[in-house]
Amino acid sequence: MGVPSVENDFGAGSPAPFLLSAPVTQWVMAKLFHDAMYNPDRPVASHWEASAGEPVSGCAPVDGDVTCDVAVIGGGFTGLSAALHLARDDQIAVRVIEAVEPGWGASGRNGGHCCFGGAGLDPDEIAAEFGEDVARQNITTQREAIDLVRDLALTNDLDIDMQGQGELCVAHNARSMDELRDETELWKRLGGFDCELYAADEVREQMYDAPGISGGMLFPFGFGLHPMKYARGLARLAQKHGVTIHGRSPVTRWHREGRRHRLVTPGGSVLANKVLIATNGFTRDELHPAVDGCLLPVISEIIATRPLTENELARHRYQATMPLYDKRPMFAYYRVLPDNRVHMGGPGGMTGTPASKERWRSRLKQRLATIWPEWRDVEVEYCWRGFVCLSSDGLTHLGPVENDPSVFYSLAYHGNGVAMATWSGRAVAGLISGHANRNIPATMTQPLKPFPIPALRKFRIYRRYGGRMLRTLLGGE
Ligand SMILES: Cc1cc2nc3c(=O)[nH]c(=O)nc-3n(C[C@H](O)[C@H](O)[C@H](O)COP(=O)(O)OP(=O)(O)OC[C@H]3O[C@@H](n4cnc5c(N)ncnc54)[C@H](O)[C@@H]3O)c2cc1C
Repeated sequence: MGVPSVENDFGAGSPAPFLLSAPVTQWVMAKLFHDAMYNPDRPVASHWEASAGEPVSGCAPVDGDVTCDVAVIGGGFTGLSAALHLARDDQIAVRVIEAVEPGWGASGRNGGHCCFGGAGLDPDEIAAEFGEDVARQNITTQREAIDLVRDLALTNDLDIDMQGQGELCVAHNARSMDELRDETELWKRLGGFDCELYAADEVREQMYDAPGISGGMLFPFGFGLHPMKYARGLARLAQKHGVTIHGRSPVTRWHREGRRHRLVTPGGSVLANKVLIATNGFTRDELHPAVDGCLLPVISEIIATRPLTENELARHRYQATMPLYDKRPMFAYYRVLPDNRVHMGGPGGMTGTPASKERWRSRLKQRLATIWPEWRDVEVEYCWRGFVCLSSDGLTHLGPVENDPSVFYSLAYHGNGVAMATWSGRAVAGLISGHANRNIPATMTQPLKPFPIPALRKFRIYRRYGGRMLRTLLGGE
């Protein structure tokens, strides 16, 4: 079953011109992303899944024909947060229709950095394009998003293993350190807050000691969490407020019946007045014309080692509790979890074949050994991957689709959706109920746009990771 291809009868409504139409795009995308990425019968095999306790109960598949006011497609942070807020704040009858189980997508697989981010553009790029006020509003939104996750967890006793305060960016050369200095000024000017700069010695003494460190910048907001526990906690909370969650219910067909929408799944169908698309990186182009050719899934991969001993941690004088990332060319994010496992994630290939997963596992292991040579022989116990989601303009998009006020989406967090998907789910819930009181930045309410040549959108990734293009075309990664 899994995340299927979907049939719809929107036909002529598709925004993509003929040459770029869904069949061409689907063919190329199918050639580029292996089915294993969508197959629920292949274990995700994440450390989060193994340590999250029981799956959410009461998520029976759709059985027969049922109705609701709002149907949410996708049971990740976006869909669950939207469903929770619709049901709790506006007593709206909501059904979440999830292909596998709550948290199966990126929400249960990510690095658990509940931190700033969401757009693929820097604040100064947003300021240049939309003005400084909009850039400031974006920053406020990101702060609110982190607070929202913390509040949801604390107010509702969600056990999500919150860890640390802030996020540390580590620099490994003088140029990166200069960039961090500039960034500090930028956050001060646009965000009105201070980021603390650390000299190399200070990082070594207070965070961890490893070769090549030039310094760091401590961002004051954010924390680490256990993403699968958070996704399941949100799902249970939504159920408590009356949301029905259907697992193992991929939407395979979507058509209109008068003003309503019929979403067909293998076990039955859901007839809804309004639909929210909350499928992010697992969205199939043909789900709805409004998303056709508009989203670029990108694979991110994570490894987790066995728990380190205190002696092993001491070899790098590891004391940092907050999430970290570094500014080396191949972006990596990492942290040592409360049980002393090292988690490290980064880009994860271009095809998603099972064989490529193994190659990326050893690349990440090499990367770990470069950062922490003393831990180079520590066994990697888990390796998993998932899709993050980019849009053509580098912005998160939420709201009603252009030609149909009964269909909404909230998509594209550019690899930073722990906080932002939660916030966006709440914001889009406000738009759906009509009781929107959220200050949604203008960047987010722009309509989603297709990539210029959707069939070739994946090659945008090569702009960043260019050298691998040839190898992929030749069949490897
Ligand atoms: C490896 C990795 C590391 C990451 N690290 C971080 C991090 O540290 N910090 C951070 O902020 N963000 C991180 N992210 C990004 C973050 O996880 C996502 O932005 C966020 O989880 C998106 O949530 P979502 O609910 O929109 O989508 P998802 O969680 O992907 O959920 C979409 C759901 O839709 C379902 N679906 C799709 N099609 C259908 C259909 N036809 N019918 C029914 N259901 C369907 C899927 O099964 C899936 O469960 C990471 C992502 C990955 C993959």
